[in-house]
Amino acid sequence: MKAIRVTAPGGAEVLRLEDVPTPAPQEGEALVRIEAAGVNFIDVYYRTGQYKAAFPLTLGMEGAGTVEAVGPGVEGVRRGDRVGSVNFAGSYAEYATAKADRLVPVPEGVSTRQAAAALLQGMTAHYLTRSTYPLRAGDTCLVHAAAGGVGLLLCQIARKAGARVIGTAGGPEKTALGRSAGAHETIDYRKDSFVDEVRRITEGRGVQVVYDSVGKDTFSGSLDCLAVRGTLALFGQSSGKVDPVDPQVLNQKGSLYLTRPTLAHYVARREELLERSGDIIGWISKGELEVRIFREVPLAEAAEAHRLLEGRKTSGKLLLIP
Ligand code: NDP
Repeated sequence: MKAIRVTAPGGAEVLRLEDVPTPAPQEGEALVRIEAAGVNFIDVYYRTGQYKAAFPLTLGMEGAGTVEAVGPGVEGVRRGDRVGSVNFAGSYAEYATAKADRLVPVPEGVSTRQAAAALLQGMTAHYLTRSTYPLRAGDTCLVHAAAGGVGLLLCQIARKAGARVIGTAGGPEKTALGRSAGAHETIDYRKDSFVDEVRRITEGRGVQVVYDSVGKDTFSGSLDCLAVRGTLALFGQSSGKVDPVDPQVLNQKGSLYLTRPTLAHYVARREELLERSGDIIGWISKGELEVRIFREVPLAEAAEAHRLLEGRKTSGKLLLIP
């Protein structure tokens, strides 16, 4: 089968299409014919070596398709089922294996492309707004990179929860997208100080929570946007790693809470995985959640997909199509 392999960490050019043996599903695993693989920032961190992995490696965690075969001991999943997962062992490929209990069903009415586009970023937006800082009606939240893959979904889900949503994004086209996804107010943070703008919009009160995926460039400003006892949910580092923090800063800026959550810990139990994915897929099928597929890129052009993502050229989801 064809797969995108990385033999050593590096730039986007290290992503190469190779012929490799199709994996055989082991005990408890299923083999899925991938119809679309989701491109995520975490794939960039693995490619560059920021996150540690053993090389050579087939990149990609997210995807959806049809079950081709199951290994011994698998129950509840059969050949021909339409499924998605955020735990494939290399989804940038024509076929990938995953533990059967990490697969979720894709029902009629939702395409495998939509599932591949929504699962990882949608469940992230879900846990951030439901569990990390559960939004209540009347709360105001700040969503950075509001026109990004996670950002567009976060704006929609936060608004659905009754919160007032302020979104930041780079440039007028992206801020417009943030507003169309439900942000009540948007800030072009490449042009204006988002801290000043948030203070103005909230009349100096600040926001209850900042969902910050940008990291290095926004971290300190995000703390300055919070109301007393507000929460900074730092869930990404698209602009780079945040420098070490003195906890005393949290006292000085208003008895703040700081957390650095990750999806894996919020879908570790199968019931939780099914609940979050079921909500996301269910909302899509009912037309209550829109997944914006920015571009579908042929698998062979995975390097170009990474360049677009890292170059801030995307707004929404990038899919790789084998
Ligand atoms: P996005 O679609 O949000 O793409 C990244 C965006 O970040 C860019 O389009 C850009 O938007 C903004 N950005 C700001 N500064 C930079 C920079 N220096 N370089 C690149 N981009 C920058 O990506 P995803 O939705 O896939 O992921 C967003 C973040 O969320 C990532 O950091 C990812 O690791 C994290 N994440 C974390 C999860 C978790 O559970 N902890 C799960 C899923 C994602 P603009 O031009 O508007 O500034």
